[in-house]
Amino acid sequence: MALAKTKAVALFGLNGTLIDVEADISSNLPNFILVGLPDASLSEATSRVRAACTNSGLSLPGRRITVNLSPASVPKRGSSFDLAIAISVLAATGAINPGNAANWLHIGELALDGSIRGVHGVLPSLLAAKELGWARFVVPTENLPEAEVIEGIEVQSFDHLTQVASFHGSDVQPRKESNLRVISRQADTKGLCYSDVLGQSEVIDSMVVAATGGHHMLMVGSPGSGKTMIAERLPSILPSLTTEQAIETAAVESLSGLPSGITFVPPFRAPHHNSSASSLIGGGLAVPRPGLISLAHNGVLFLDEAPEFQQPALEALRQPLESGEVVISRAAGVARFPARFQLVMAANPCPCGFAWDPNRQCKCVEPAKSRYLNRLSGPLLDRIDISLRVNTVPKAMQKKRGPSSSELREKVLAGRAFGAARLAKTPWRLNAQVPGAYLRRNWRPTGAASDRLDKALERGLLSMRGYDRCIRLAHTLADLDQVETPTVEHVARAMYLRGGELG
Ligand SMILES: [Zn+2]
Repeated sequence: MALAKTKAVALFGLNGTLIDVEADISSNLPNFILVGLPDASLSEATSRVRAACTNSGLSLPGRRITVNLSPASVPKRGSSFDLAIAISVLAATGAINPGNAANWLHIGELALDGSIRGVHGVLPSLLAAKELGWARFVVPTENLPEAEVIEGIEVQSFDHLTQVASFHGSDVQPRKESNLRVISRQADTKGLCYSDVLGQSEVIDSMVVAATGGHHMLMVGSPGSGKTMIAERLPSILPSLTTEQAIETAAVESLSGLPSGITFVPPFRAPHHNSSASSLIGGGLAVPRPGLISLAHNGVLFLDEAPEFQQPALEALRQPLESGEVVISRAAGVARFPARFQLVMAANPCPCGFAWDPNRQCKCVEPAKSRYLNRLSGPLLDRIDISLRVNTVPKAMQKKRGPSSSELREKVLAGRAFGAARLAKTPWRLNAQVPGAYLRRNWRPTGAASDRLDKALERGLLSMRGYDRCIRLAHTLADLDQVETPTVEHVARAMYLRGGELG
C-alpha cells in the first residue's frame, strides 16, 4: 500500500469542514512534505509525527512521504492534525490496517515520545463533523469528557500513538493504560449562596426579579456595599442549563482553550475594567477566537466598576446585546460566536465611590462627579431594565441571614414556569426579550395599573422607554406572584426597580 487516507476536521469559528488527510509514499529521495495550506504550526507537524512514530517503535520508511490535506482552500492551523497525519502515513506504509484508518476521524497533538495531547476545540469539531454526517472519532483521552456529551456518535479515546496503532491492527505493543474520566452532570455553584450576604434583602429580592425575567441590571453603590457578592451569586438562582445550552457553552470554552468540561450551571464571567474591546468580543489574526462575552453565553456577564471600562469596550457590547451573537470578519471568512448573556453592571456613585456614604467624605469635584455615571452610554443603559441603588448596610443590621439560594431559585423557577404560557404565544423566551412595541400592544396592564402608568407618562415622570420597561418588569413581578395581569402594586414596584432616581 502506497496511498492511504483518514479524516480530520478544520474549524473556523464554530463552523467545521471535514478534511481528507491523504498520505503517499514514493521511492524518491527521503523527505516528508505537507501540502494543502498548512500554517506554520501545522508545518512543524512533520517533525513531530516523525519523532512520535520512531519513538513508538513505528519507524517510517526512508522514502519520500507526501501528506495532502484537502480541500486546500480551507484554512487549517494548530497541532490537532498530528494524529490524523501519523495515522494516514502509518496506513500508507502498511503498519496499520488502511481500511480501518479510513473509517475513523482523528484529532490530537503528538508529543515527540508518541503521547497524545489534548487540543482546543474538540467539542465544536465533533459537533461540526457529526452535522456533516461523520460518526466515528478518535480523540485524546484528555478531551474525552467533551466528546462524551454528544449523543449518536462513536468515540475512542487514547493517550499514546501505540494504542491507536494497535486499535487499527498494528502488532506494536500499546503503551500506557487509558484512564477514562467521568463527567459530572451535577450542578455545582461553587458553594456560593445568597444566605452569605447579610442585610441586603431588598437588593436580593430584585436579583430574583432579574433572574426570573432575564432582565439586565445596574447596581450603584459605595465600595463595600456588597455589589460583587450579590452579582456573583446570580448563577446560583438561575435555572440549570439544558443539555443543548451546556453543550453550546462548552463548545465556546473548548474553542478558547479553557480547561473545559460540561457544567449545567450558567457561566459567570467578570472581565476586568482594563479589558480591551477585542478581548471582550473576540478576535485573532487569521483564525478568530471567541471573547469573554461569548464565554458568558447562556450565563451572566458582570462588569464591575462599569464606568471605568474603556468606551470602545462598552460600545462593543451593543451589537451582541441586540443580536445575541458576535460576528467577526476575516479574509478567510466570517466567524459567528453565540453571545446571549444576562448583563449585570456595578458602579460606584462617583469616582472616589463615597458620594452616598453617610460615614465617609466624598472627595470628588464637579463636573467629574456628576459626569461619572454618564460614562455608561445611553444605548447600553437602554438595555438595562433594573437600576438599583445599593446602600451600605450598617454593622448593627448585618445579623439577619436571608433565604438560601436554593429557596430563591424555587421562586425563580415557579415564576418562569408561570410566565412561560404567555411567552409561548410569542417568539421570545424571557420577559426581558420582549420589545417595547409588542409590550404596548399586547401586554399593557388594565384598570388602575394602566392609569398609574399613563399618568406617570403624562407628567413626564416616565419616558417612553421607561414606560415599556415598567410593563416588562410588572409582568415579571406578576409572574412571581402567579397572577395573570399586573396589579397597581406591581406597576409601582416596577417603577421603583427601573431606577427613576438614577436617571
Ligand atoms: Zn466621590
